[in-house]
Amino acid sequence: MRTLLDLELVALTKRYGSTVAVDAVSHLFPSGSYVCLLGPSGCGKSSTLRMIAGHEAVSDGAIILAGKDISKLPPAQRGTAMMFQNYALFPHLSVIDNVAFSLKMKGVEKPERHRAAAEMLELVDMAALAQRMPAQLSGGQQQRIALARALITKPQVLLLDEPLSALDPFLRIRMRAELKRLQRELGITFLHVTHGQDEALALADQVVVMNNAVIEQAGSARDVFNAPNTEFVARFMGGHNVLTLAGQKQALRADRTRLARSGEGLPATVTSVEFQGAHVAVGLSGTTGGEFTALVPEADFYADPFALGDAAVAAWSPQHLHSLAK
Ligand code: ADP
Repeated sequence: MRTLLDLELVALTKRYGSTVAVDAVSHLFPSGSYVCLLGPSGCGKSSTLRMIAGHEAVSDGAIILAGKDISKLPPAQRGTAMMFQNYALFPHLSVIDNVAFSLKMKGVEKPERHRAAAEMLELVDMAALAQRMPAQLSGGQQQRIALARALITKPQVLLLDEPLSALDPFLRIRMRAELKRLQRELGITFLHVTHGQDEALALADQVVVMNNAVIEQAGSARDVFNAPNTEFVARFMGGHNVLTLAGQKQALRADRTRLARSGEGLPATVTSVEFQGAHVAVGLSGTTGGEFTALVPEADFYADPFALGDAAVAAWSPQHLHSLAK
């Protein structure tokens, strides 16, 4: 359902010389949702985000926010705010002055901007460190400050460019939960660029998969994962086998691929066995269809373990097989 505050891209295009980085992308981002823009390096994610933020000129098309085309407005007048990958904090300013910076630029008096900054620091749980300098903060703390600094402008859309990539894996998962909490609490749209499918699945109400400058598929995290439209999406989201069966490309969930010693199904030879904790990944070469993987629950696998070179028969229920458009 459309609402007044939705963000809409209309045939949005970015060209750098002869390179088309974003190719006539049209898409509606529902207001108040957590959206992840997902895709491999070079697919056009950052260019899209930077055009929305106003840090990159639009070559063609429009960016509609709250009913008006913002594509020619200066960044500060768009109703968007951006949080950068490297946080870009001012090293010579204290935490509270970093957060208050954009209000200072707008001419807001010191007591008022410090009051607003303190409120933002409260929101990201950093009130106790208001007087520190950025160099005295951990990576995770710097990220919270960068968030507070972006949110103080009360944007309708917060743009996040690979916000978790500088953190170690442990902190990344903690900050991921924190971002989700903030988005729910504020009720604004978060548009988060990532190349990590696990990050997108964990966070997004809507996943938008980009490839070669266009949107390949968009939908809820579950829909995109369970029903990929194309071979690219199936492979990029992971967890799927792409098989050519009866001349048609199909995707089959690896964890729904059952293995037996004999019986009905696709005959194959075991080419690899990899213990992954909860599952064992069994690599197979089918007599038709190509190479594929069965993710077998650990206990099932060890009840009758397959070894390299063993013959196996793979089977699945038809609902776990999806035809791919390309
Ligand atoms: P992503 O964020 O998905 O990695 P980008 O939007 O950064 O992708 O880049 C998309 C394409 O545009 C790539 O081919 C990249 O090399 C090119 N590109 C990005 N920025 C520039 C630039 N400033 N000048 C020329 N080409 C660029």
